[in-house]
Amino acid sequence: MSETYPAVVVTEPSTPAAIRELSDADLPEGDVTIDVSYSSLNYKDGLAVTGRGKVVRHFPMVCGIDLAGVVHECSAPQWRNGDEVVVTGWGLSETHPGGYTHRQRLRSQWIIPRPPDLSLRQTMAIGTAGLTAMLCVLALEHSGLEPAPEGREVLVTGAGGGVGSIAVAILARHGYRVAASTGRPDTHDHLRALGASTIVDRSELDTSSSRPLESERWLGAVDTVGGQTLATVLRQTSYRGAVAACGLVGGTDLHTTVLPFILRGVRLIGIDSVQCPMPLRAKAWHRLGRDLDLAMLDKITTVEPMSRISELADAILAGQTRGRVVVDVNS
Ligand code: NDP
Repeated sequence: MSETYPAVVVTEPSTPAAIRELSDADLPEGDVTIDVSYSSLNYKDGLAVTGRGKVVRHFPMVCGIDLAGVVHECSAPQWRNGDEVVVTGWGLSETHPGGYTHRQRLRSQWIIPRPPDLSLRQTMAIGTAGLTAMLCVLALEHSGLEPAPEGREVLVTGAGGGVGSIAVAILARHGYRVAASTGRPDTHDHLRALGASTIVDRSELDTSSSRPLESERWLGAVDTVGGQTLATVLRQTSYRGAVAACGLVGGTDLHTTVLPFILRGVRLIGIDSVQCPMPLRAKAWHRLGRDLDLAMLDKITTVEPMSRISELADAILAGQTRGRVVVDVNS
């Protein structure tokens, strides 16, 4: 009988995942097999593991949208056994089994080499959340935003979370003045340490208004919240500002008017990390390796055993995790 190993598996729609024993006979199709070292915890993982969101499309499914590990076996010529690699997105835990397991098989086109300045653990401290934060920053830069040392701030919403924390750190490191919006007073010191110059209470932005425009307040924004918060941010973004929208923790509806766009030239840019094309991914990972303060990354990261995944999933959906959680699949 072949060796078995634990994996976090969801077997039916709307039911929580559980740890089950799998073996290589359960691996899906693909041309590369990876011995997984670490995965990470993202909001989407919280939805998949608790069965609360419609993340998983096929059952049974191994959860975990990210993984980092070592090539065990590969038929694609560009990879060799022993290569250290990283995979984020591409439908892991949705349409293809993911990273909460000791071994996974997938398509070699989805993997990138471990960036030279990062350890495997650090790549998962970054994970989908960090990649998304960097894609937001690249989008703002592409739209022409530049740091204004004496001027307006770039706002980051959901700043205490994974995407938000890393976005604050990257923007501050690039010389932007950063306003961090959070609903948790206990994150204020942490956000200031990451480089935020101002803290905005989440409730200030989570409001409806009959006014289509408000006083210009933000140079631009990274929005992880959506809903009313994003509508407020659009009303307050200054002339020719840009907003990178990536999240929905505050809701999927967006009630706005065209006025921020046609009177202030505000740009609203959608960010997707799952199907993000490889050249942009490679650029984002290069920038993450170069621009992130790794000592700071280590400070905002906690490493948790895979055996705690149910509690961790509940915590991230309740907005109780701070920064990034790396999942050690071997403990
Ligand atoms: P986290 O749970 O780590 O962070 C989300 C943060 O949002 C929380 O920490 C909290 O921050 C804040 N928050 C939680 N609930 C609410 C609420 N009801 N209203 C306002 N703010 C709230 O999640 P991630 O950082 O992993 O993901 C953030 C969002 O980005 C999610 O919606 C996720 O699905 C999305 N995402 C999208 C990707 C893409 O490719 N487009 C990729 C990765 C993530 P605080 O306590 O500081 O207020």
